[in-house]
Amino acid sequence: MTERTIVYRFKNGIYINLTNRCPNLCTFCIKTKWAMQFDGHNLDLAGQEPTAEEILTAVYQELQTPAQEVVFCGFGEPTMRLDVVLAVGRALKKHAKYPQFKIRLNTNGLGNLINRRDIVAELKTAVDMVSVSLNAENETLWKELLRPAPGYENGYQSVLDFIGSCAQSGFEKVTASCVENTAADPKAVRALALSLGADFNDREYLK
Ligand code: SF4
Repeated sequence: MTERTIVYRFKNGIYINLTNRCPNLCTFCIKTKWAMQFDGHNLDLAGQEPTAEEILTAVYQELQTPAQEVVFCGFGEPTMRLDVVLAVGRALKKHAKYPQFKIRLNTNGLGNLINRRDIVAELKTAVDMVSVSLNAENETLWKELLRPAPGYENGYQSVLDFIGSCAQSGFEKVTASCVENTAADPKAVRALALSLGADFNDREYLK
């Protein structure tokens, strides 16, 4: 197996593979379907999550070539490692090329529950944009599609509150998304996202 990838290029962005851990087990998650591979990269961290220093070294190297954004991602949920998101994001905001690139968080929206506190104000110091995987227009569907772990079964309202709070907190962009071709109705998810003050993005169902 190829060496684990902690930072990789995709489209116009630099993506950070922060963790493989996630409190959800979404029916559409590609990490299991694609055996932890993405676009030729091995995203299986095998329990060796990268440190903030490792990440920054790799991102600084990548920033020698222009990028539009640096994205906290995974095959996992970045807010499982909020301390690293904050340390890396705050350091990147001091980089000579910032704000030529934006800093974005890809999240399932459960960060407040995961960290047992409201994390939005802290995120604001480290991240410019937030993209939340919402994927369902009601709690029943959310549980069915995202299959949250014990302790997160009632997380849907927390996700909605997180999106609404981000939308009111002055981030440059807050987006809620819905994966296509599931039992969810993208139009209803879009209406919900807009009602929370977020933009909407529908995402291709990857097979
Ligand atoms: S929230 Fe993301 S990483 Fe977690 S299971 Fe769902 S698709 Fe996979």
